[in-house]
Amino acid sequence: MRVAFLGLGIMGHAMATNLVKAGHEVAVWNRTPGKLVEGAGIAPSPAAAVQGAEVAWLCLADTDAVEGVLFGADGAEASLTEGMIIADSSTISPSATVKFAERVASKGVAWVDAPMTGSKIGAQSGTLVFIVGGEEAPIERLKPLFAAMGKKIFHMGGTSKGQATKLAMNLQIALIFEGFAEALTLATKLGVDSQQLISLIDATMVRSGVVEYKAPFVLARDFTPNFPLRLMHKDIRLTLEAAKEARVKLPALETVEEIYELATEEGHQDLDYAATLTLLEKWAGVQVKGKAA
Ligand code: NAP
Repeated sequence: MRVAFLGLGIMGHAMATNLVKAGHEVAVWNRTPGKLVEGAGIAPSPAAAVQGAEVAWLCLADTDAVEGVLFGADGAEASLTEGMIIADSSTISPSATVKFAERVASKGVAWVDAPMTGSKIGAQSGTLVFIVGGEEAPIERLKPLFAAMGKKIFHMGGTSKGQATKLAMNLQIALIFEGFAEALTLATKLGVDSQQLISLIDATMVRSGVVEYKAPFVLARDFTPNFPLRLMHKDIRLTLEAAKEARVKLPALETVEEIYELATEEGHQDLDYAATLTLLEKWAGVQVKGKAA
């Protein structure tokens, strides 16, 4: 298929690369010039990238970025024609998604919200899980593209239901990780070996994919970003906004959001979100270690 891929960040670059590898005709655009994808054409603007494409695939930081890339100066909207599909793998606001989808629908363009999970490693290995909202027909047409970038898709309902579900998923990741980080900090302060604690977690119902994935990085004190803290913070804010719109109270997430604010004040926004642990350590006056001292 002819695909315009907009946004070559941690996730987008790997996803566009996998589309090329699967034989699709890809034109890429990125706000900051200089990012290349081998085998793909480079476009000078979103409008130019989308010209003649069947699908515009977006993987951008946030709601404002998606709005600007679609509807701003030299935005994709100018090149949209009837029958095209916009697939949005950015994690953005569900209510904004509905508005964007309505606006492009007036041009006969279908919208599929397709946020994903699987992190940088999943994007690189083509094993992402897509969490999808939209009509059945365009989703069916996108299946070869989903297959090139991921291992599974979950169709959660109509437009925006992919985004709504993604927020509900990241809410859990943020809370599970904070629970793990608090447990590690307390156990360390009380003199418990953290590797032993992690082995115990793994052998009991407390185990989780989040802990399994993050524990080796935490023990190695490797906070290079797989999922940057600034993006998880953005998702927490999106979730709290969506909850407010829906009149739902999320007290645990509100508290965790404060930890992210403080972590940002400490300058950790470009580290992995696992770096929120370092605040707990600072307050407790301990540092979690891989091995007993
Ligand atoms: P990233 O590395 O920060 O890349 C963000 C991309 O958005 C870059 O291409 C950036 O362009 C572009 N961008 C930012 N602001 C823009 C603006 N105002 N106008 C135009 N382009 C703009 O992020 P990522 O990790 O690839 O994540 C992309 C999306 O996937 C996010 O919504 C994130 O929440 C979601 N996600 C990420 C992960 C993960 O593990 N990383 C997992 C699941 C979902 P520049 O190069 O010019 O900055």
